[in-house]
Amino acid sequence: MPDALPPVLLEALGQLDQNALVLAPGEVIVFASENIDHIGILRDGLIQSQELLAIIRVVRRTNIKQTGTIDIPRGPIGEGRLELTVNVIPLIREQLVLVLLSDESQAQRIQDVRRDFVANVSHELKTPIGALLLLSEAVLGAKDDPAAVEKFATRMQIESKRLTDLVQEIINLSRLQDSDPLSVPSELNVQDLVNEAIDQSQVGADSRKIEILTGEIANGVVLGDRDQIIMAIQNLVENAVNYSPEGTKVTVSSGIEDGIVTISITDQGIGIPENEKDRIFERFYRVDPARSRQSGGTGLGLSIVKHVATKHGGEVSVWSVENIGSTFSLKLPLFSKSEEII
Ligand code: ADP
Repeated sequence: MPDALPPVLLEALGQLDQNALVLAPGEVIVFASENIDHIGILRDGLIQSQELLAIIRVVRRTNIKQTGTIDIPRGPIGEGRLELTVNVIPLIREQLVLVLLSDESQAQRIQDVRRDFVANVSHELKTPIGALLLLSEAVLGAKDDPAAVEKFATRMQIESKRLTDLVQEIINLSRLQDSDPLSVPSELNVQDLVNEAIDQSQVGADSRKIEILTGEIANGVVLGDRDQIIMAIQNLVENAVNYSPEGTKVTVSSGIEDGIVTISITDQGIGIPENEKDRIFERFYRVDPARSRQSGGTGLGLSIVKHVATKHGGEVSVWSVENIGSTFSLKLPLFSKSEEII
């Protein structure tokens, strides 16, 4: 085992905003920042990124500081990637190497996503705003007919509610795009997340006479943003309720296998045609726009779920048969602390 680092150096490293590693020869870790487990660069005390190991080898050979970018998966599954800028600095006298890691690529990505999002949003906002304009004209034209005024005013309330929901979901999605839930994550209990999401969906389920059952809930800890994960589970439960006939059941359960937590939401609803399964996760995509509108849908729910899953190093998938029902599975990496780091 290598010698411990001097306390003053440990203190200095602990004060850094960036994640840091100090490596002894053989790439033995003698220091790792407290939050290093959150970025998935180490497993069992060993560096997992071949790109980072290659940069370190160059530094060891040349004794010259190197800067580069590395691309690592956010979790063992899903498409989420984390692009990190690394500075690898030789501490020659002690034969140590200091690695500083920071995520600076995010700003560019946000810019790209925002551009096409704004285009979609303006299009979607035009529908309820256009409806409100027409209805207000209808109210003016019918001012001597109280029954007609009442009918148009009720429609106006529905359209205003749709507009409010749409704006709220747009805000939710753009907050998600700006945030990185793994940069300062919390350790979250799966059972607690599921219970909270079910609580928030209960009123909607009651109004459609749909019973929400909890199946087996395997309990584990995941890392991330509590509100975001609850929002994702809640969106899936709400969809299960909205796309099912009255009097049916929705079941929420969770299981753990190979370090992955799977939260499953199963309904006995209308199902999704095979050729639409990939597209439903796109922003504003609906299989049946009329039905989605009727249930107050915005077309953003599943893209929010996909975003939350990806940003947490996980993924979302669907199994579905038309007129039988659907199961949506949200998979997230199970969190376990690395015990090998000194
Ligand atoms: P929406 O606000 O329209 O529900 P989502 O992004 O949440 O938007 O879902 C996109 C589309 O996927 C829905 O319009 C619906 O056609 C389909 N969908 C989502 N969940 C289910 C489900 N549990 N059963 C059947 N269809 C579903």
